[in-house]
Amino acid sequence: MQRRLIATAVLTLAASLSLATLPANVNAAPRVADATVTTQLPRNAAPRNYDVALTPDAAAGTFAGKVTITLDVVTATSTITLNAADLAFKSAAITTISTKGGKALPARTSIDKEAQTATFTFARALAPGQYKLALDYTGVIGTQAVGLFSLDYDSDGGKKRALYTQFENSDARRMIPSWDEPFYKATFTLSATVPAADMAVSNMPVASRTNLPDGRVRVTFGESPKMSTYLLFFGLGEFERATRQAEGTELGVVTRKGGASQAAFVLQESAAILKEYNDYFGVRYPLPKLDNIAAPGRSQFFGAMENWGAIFTFEYAMLLDPAVSTQHDRQEVFVTAAHEMAHQWFGDLVTMAWWDDLWLNEGFASWMESRMSERLHPEWESNLGVVAVHEGAMTRDSVVTTHPVVQHVATVEQASQAFDSITYQKGESVIRMLENYVGELAWRNGVRAYMQKHKYSNTVSDDLWNSIEKAAGKPVKAIAHDFTLQPGVPLVRVGVPVCTAGETSVTLTQAEYSRDQPQRKPLTWRVPVVAKTLGATGDARTVIDKGQVTLRVPGCGPLVVNAGQNGYYRTLYSPQAFDALSLQFGALPPVDQLGLLSDSWALGLAGLAPTSNWLDLAAATPEGANPQVWSKLTGVLMQIHGMYGEDKARRQPFDDYAIARLAPELARIGWDAVRGEAEPVATLRADLIVALGALQHAPTVGEAQRRYLALQRDPGSVPAALRQPVLSVVARNNDVAGWAALRSAARNEKSPMVKDQMYMLLAQANDPGLSERALELALTDEPGATNSAAMVAAVAQHAPELAFDFATANMAKMNTRIDESSRSRYFPSLATHSANPAMVAKVKSYAEANLAPGSRRDAETAMAEITNRIKVRQARLPEIDAWLAKHAK
Ligand SMILES: [Zn+2]
Repeated sequence: MQRRLIATAVLTLAASLSLATLPANVNAAPRVADATVTTQLPRNAAPRNYDVALTPDAAAGTFAGKVTITLDVVTATSTITLNAADLAFKSAAITTISTKGGKALPARTSIDKEAQTATFTFARALAPGQYKLALDYTGVIGTQAVGLFSLDYDSDGGKKRALYTQFENSDARRMIPSWDEPFYKATFTLSATVPAADMAVSNMPVASRTNLPDGRVRVTFGESPKMSTYLLFFGLGEFERATRQAEGTELGVVTRKGGASQAAFVLQESAAILKEYNDYFGVRYPLPKLDNIAAPGRSQFFGAMENWGAIFTFEYAMLLDPAVSTQHDRQEVFVTAAHEMAHQWFGDLVTMAWWDDLWLNEGFASWMESRMSERLHPEWESNLGVVAVHEGAMTRDSVVTTHPVVQHVATVEQASQAFDSITYQKGESVIRMLENYVGELAWRNGVRAYMQKHKYSNTVSDDLWNSIEKAAGKPVKAIAHDFTLQPGVPLVRVGVPVCTAGETSVTLTQAEYSRDQPQRKPLTWRVPVVAKTLGATGDARTVIDKGQVTLRVPGCGPLVVNAGQNGYYRTLYSPQAFDALSLQFGALPPVDQLGLLSDSWALGLAGLAPTSNWLDLAAATPEGANPQVWSKLTGVLMQIHGMYGEDKARRQPFDDYAIARLAPELARIGWDAVRGEAEPVATLRADLIVALGALQHAPTVGEAQRRYLALQRDPGSVPAALRQPVLSVVARNNDVAGWAALRSAARNEKSPMVKDQMYMLLAQANDPGLSERALELALTDEPGATNSAAMVAAVAQHAPELAFDFATANMAKMNTRIDESSRSRYFPSLATHSANPAMVAKVKSYAEANLAPGSRRDAETAMAEITNRIKVRQARLPEIDAWLAKHAK
């Protein structure tokens, strides 16, 4: 799944399958979960095949279902318990197929709403053997992206409604009574009775279509390979589909009618990605087709989902509209596709046995999306993104409420909370570090062996480490365990480098990086380290395994520890080592400039180094430095701007300094793209415009307003690359009349994707009165069912107290507009940007009143972030004020 990241960037404020080709284990007898695998179902039976017939009534928001489950009873029992949520059963009966002539045995059905199960009880015990369980039931089509759901949108032909499914982590049970746990893999045969004019899509190609007397058609899809329930997909609507052949697979994009041309980029890139993956994994993509289905709207929980053979992606992460899409959007579309396609192997073909090892899916897919950008689009310089990935993980991993990458998950709600930056970004960081440690080829060979050995089945993390260790011929598991079984971020302290005879000798000491200094002994890790001196050709590698090492590094220039930034740790230099680097900052490779900027800011925040270190580096960043270095600089300057809050008088000297730093860079690269400029410049330009707009830099605000007026007169007058930044500056500075004009434009907009963007802009106005209006608007039907929660979250970016109070005061209404799996995190997330002590108590009482004790981690993290922000303001702003008094002119 592609997680919907809470944007930290300034901008956002961002033919049936022949079974003969499948290996024998696909048809092996099903196993029940053994004692090593967590399950919430009895260990007495397991499924082989689900034969599902679905009849949706999109207008009524309901569906009728019939399923015949071929299953094995492994221990004699008179009950079978399955997962089921919001389903009503009409009949249930079981037939033995182990012996001939068995009669259907009816069942009494009982529902446990809390446990999300249905139990079928029979008049006599079922002996071990194979059976068919036939169930007839009805269910609900929701309006948020959970289970089987509908999305409404405007089109030239009027209002339209399309249906989709979203089952990860535990919502297949809303459409099919099933063993809805990743361990229980089975084959699926899906058929649906649908309007003749609609297109139906599932994991497999359509095997047959039958016209029915009432004018509808019954569409039957080919039997799927053996897979987990959460990977099943069904979609239905007025769609169009474009295809191309690649590597013997039919690649497809499915969009609402009229949208396929905007999917041309993703279709073309998917072909290149498929070729890379077939080679990398050493197992060819096993299904006959792979679709990517675009849907309007959004979810608080995810952006895209890796259903096997039928990836689901919200339009904003898949379609490119030539009139509005930016370079940043293109990259997002690419990485989203690369991420979901990686899951077709890591997740779909080989699946974690239980949610404890979710990171095997998500860490790996995240690492692969970065790897694919670097390989297929070197012009984007995505290799520099490694620092932002570490940063995302370390921010979360350096407060007391963090958790290990591999963690025990006990409930469905805890499983949904596991989709966080530890699982995704720390997972990616750890993989990157270990690949760097064992070497690219050894890592790939290990992955190939793992795929071959475990295809169509389930694994735990040690299965991966075993394969890698064997391929690498050196120990990996101990380091992997240090970084995945315990939480936290290592800190490497760098002593005073001493140069003798062309070689630098330095002592490295391992400690722990924490922002809230827990009252416990610091943790220890075996940390692989790469160090290099500026100007030297070779590097030095070691593992800090007993707390301290002395390392000899070729050359005598300034010493960079974590050279290349592949290691998951913070580096704290001695003042002598830092000063040497600071003096030659502009000469460092861009990735190490980013690493140094990132570490020195984070260490400053934690009080482990003076904040002035970062300010010195910011001052030393040369004009024309790498655009991503400038984007990072811009991001931190805006973070400091935010730290000052509404204390405008105290903030002014800082804002003046930030403008003095950023405005010349915008002037240097200009508002309009220059032919032949590097692609990351486009993203930097957008970042600078939005930042200078937020700093109320009059020329930037004026130019944005001028271009906005031109856009009203002639939509072609502003290039797509500038549209979002211009709108963002105008929207933030809007007055009542401007806000009303934007709202009327949003109402009249026909493109669902652009319409969504406009409602988000309405929520960005800084004016408190307009923020309140945006909140009220969010609770009406006007923005569309899936935009409401995102609008309130957008207000929370600049007015967290207002948004949190509003959302909790209107909780019942809000809950109908948030998908159920996100509720326990949504409300705390609104408060997380606050620096108001009263909010800590409010979040606490919200959690106590609404969340089970085992589901409060997100609330506790929000409280830790608020507390930390208050502390940082008190402790760091005086340092920044003092630095400004000394340095700013
Ligand atoms: Zn994913």
